[in-house]
Amino acid sequence: MTFFAALPAIIWALMVWFYPEWLASVSLSVPGTVSAALGVVFLVAAFFRQWQWFYWCAWVGGIYATVQLGLQQPLAQEEVSQLYDALPVWLSLSALLLTFLKKPVLLTGKGILIFVALATLPLSLLLPPVAQVLALLNPAEVLTLPDWQQSSFAIGLLIWTVAMGGIWATYLLYKSASAFAWSHWAAWLSLMVFLLAVQYQQASTWAALAASAGLLLALADQMLKLAYIDELTGLPQRRALMSQLQHLRKRSAVCMLDVDHFKKFNDRYGHEVGDQVLRLLGRILKEHGGFKAYRYGGEEFTLVFFHNDEEKLKNLLESVRSQVANYPLKLREPSRPESKTKGKEARGKKEKSKTVKVTISLGATVKEPDDTADSILKRADENLYSAKKAGRNRVSVC
Ligand code: GH3
Ligand code: MG
Ligand code: MG
Repeated sequence: MTFFAALPAIIWALMVWFYPEWLASVSLSVPGTVSAALGVVFLVAAFFRQWQWFYWCAWVGGIYATVQLGLQQPLAQEEVSQLYDALPVWLSLSALLLTFLKKPVLLTGKGILIFVALATLPLSLLLPPVAQVLALLNPAEVLTLPDWQQSSFAIGLLIWTVAMGGIWATYLLYKSASAFAWSHWAAWLSLMVFLLAVQYQQASTWAALAASAGLLLALADQMLKLAYIDELTGLPQRRALMSQLQHLRKRSAVCMLDVDHFKKFNDRYGHEVGDQVLRLLGRILKEHGGFKAYRYGGEEFTLVFFHNDEEKLKNLLESVRSQVANYPLKLREPSRPESKTKGKEARGKKEKSKTVKVTISLGATVKEPDDTADSILKRADENLYSAKKAGRNRVSVC
């Protein structure tokens, strides 16, 4: 299956061998190159089954096709200006709808309909009556002061772009958004910037390329996350740990951390509550600072320290241990009430939320000169075992 990576080069070589004249006769135009770039995003997204990307590729492709066709059509000056007044309205409305509305799965009737609509609806802006109506919604004219209307610089559109881009970016920052969400913002911004510099109409190619590159980078980020980040806790997982341990600095330390009696905990409160505990533990470890935390597997975590000061290490691990041991974990309702009346009764009563606590044991060791990834982990694990044997909910360092 890994063979697929060689396919483009092999097809290219076969084409050169059998049809060199044909290849030479079809030199890719610039719009062709952009379409090819979008095609690459489509292919990679399909290969990794990241169907959500398809909507945004269709969105960029539809707008780019509209601009290209607009350039080729013999439109009157007024119609051209209507098209460029309508485009920012379409761009912004559709981008916001696509971002904030819940989207259906692509490979369903509704999903395919939205995909086709995103790719083809912007083309309707080439029809003057449609563009005229949409252009009426363009607030840039209102934002433009009469004195500036003579100037070719679209100050109204600039204010619009900065304001909407700023609010959207603030929202993304506040939400700690994914690279995927940022790539939508970037695609929208790329195309708005093109409309700002519309006197350079041919530059639309660069705008579409920038938008496609953003989508491709987000796709790469998603792939890295799928490979390295544990979904439940949001911490990097074992593969990332092993790669980190290969390049451990001279002064380092490693700690293995394990939840105490977690099997019993799961048996008593259910697997879902168990997952809640692991998620909480992930958050505490991420926010604590002083080390890099990984989910080793199951209910075991590994912490990597970039110093080998045993005293400091002990204090820090003690602080993690007590923070977890003292954290009151509120149990959610285990299951929904069976009937509506029961549900009402339950809501009517003052909610009694039960709190439980979990403890962890930690075993740490500092790096020795001839340590390998395996040997340092083994020693930390032996210390963890000592902490367990000594009664759990404790730290063992040596
Ligand atoms: P000890 O104090 O000796 O560590 O006892 P323990 O019960 O924690 O140890 P053991 O290794 O026997 O059990 C680990 C349990 O962790 C088994 C499994 O049910 C639970 N576990 C592992 N991964 C997950 C997970 O992703 N979610 C949940 N809810 N439980 C998990
Ligand atoms: Mg264990
Ligand atoms: Mg355990």
